[in-house]
Amino acid sequence: MSISPLMPVYPRCGVRPVRGEHCHLIDEDGTRYLDFASGIAVNALGHSHEGLIGAIKQQAETLMHVSNLYGSPQGEALAQRLVDNTFADTVFFTNSGAEAVECAIKAARAYHQSAGNDEKFELITFANAFHGRTMATISASNQDKMHKGFMPLLPGFKYAEFDSLESAKAQMGPNTAGFLVEPIQGEGGIRPASDEFIRGLRQLADENDLMLVFDEVQCGVARTGALYAYELYGVEPDILATAKGIGGGFPLGACIATEKAARGMTFGTHGSTYGGNPLAMAAGMAVLDAVLEEGFLADVTEKGERIRSRLEQFIGNYPDLFELVRGKGLMLGLKMKVESRPFFVHLRDNHQLLTVAAGDNTLRVLPPLVIGDAEIDEFFDKLSAGAADYTIPEG
Ligand SMILES: *Cc1c(COP(=O)(O)O)cnc(C)c1O
Repeated sequence: MSISPLMPVYPRCGVRPVRGEHCHLIDEDGTRYLDFASGIAVNALGHSHEGLIGAIKQQAETLMHVSNLYGSPQGEALAQRLVDNTFADTVFFTNSGAEAVECAIKAARAYHQSAGNDEKFELITFANAFHGRTMATISASNQDKMHKGFMPLLPGFKYAEFDSLESAKAQMGPNTAGFLVEPIQGEGGIRPASDEFIRGLRQLADENDLMLVFDEVQCGVARTGALYAYELYGVEPDILATAKGIGGGFPLGACIATEKAARGMTFGTHGSTYGGNPLAMAAGMAVLDAVLEEGFLADVTEKGERIRSRLEQFIGNYPDLFELVRGKGLMLGLKMKVESRPFFVHLRDNHQLLTVAAGDNTLRVLPPLVIGDAEIDEFFDKLSAGAADYTIPEG
């Protein structure tokens, strides 16, 4: 037997964390890493947040799981909280981002098909998008590397250029059901869409009775300094997928929608065994308690601006390595002039600084939202040392 017990779909690195303390991860052998990856924008409250741990502990002792066949006081409370704080009127809870996007795709199709418009099933999606790894969500992305070996794809997706209204318009036709877009592309390289693009999509959707679906799995839940990034654009979607940060590390996602957009999601049309179970609801509520606390969002914005301006100063010292800084709040990307992956490995292995590689030679900087001045200083110390002793690999 040569296959590993863990199916070898991830090229796992030598960092083997066994403990988390606030913004640090501690390895099997005791090495401490500064975690500016946050499990890819998941550990919004860091690794040992008392409120989150307490809520999970208490709920685990009380009631962990019941079927969605029963009434859910815990689910109703968290759904109401989301409804009160977003554009949405209704919520479907999932266990992951891909499932939240799946529900969003189904809701967009059902919006039309429940009204007898069976020909409207196509979602227009955008180049270099990432929506998850299920068959529908890989079909929603134009990235061949995710398709290879898994053909055929699910029909019903058309790809347009990201941030190009003209390209989106060119893909529209009698089968169009709506648009599915990340307002800020995460895996694609921390690329924020322009205001004109997002507003233009809203207008196209309004004029043609189409669904505007935002995938905020990575950029949502306070990451950008707004509870959801759509607020920064002044544009409300019809349907939104959220996950990652919303559970703070506990598997939780949600598809949230307006009453109109959810008109096709009636009894028996969708479901999930685990989705919305009391334990996940407790985690989600603890995260919302923290991020909706007075001053939290403003603090994320302020720290984001501070790190960004320091990053901009810093890259000026290394014009051969770095091109620019982009992103919003604490969802930041350093676009490099050289391959970003080897530099990310260098920071990890030689300076114990964890970041995340992304498309377009971008290094993702995704710290826990609860970082303080000490962690910000430590980040710049490690980053500066890492840039100073970096040798660009040959070839
Ligand atoms: C991570 C991610 C997903 C998929 O979430 P999973 O929990 O891995 O299924 C979908 N969309 C975006 C934008 C993401 O960043």
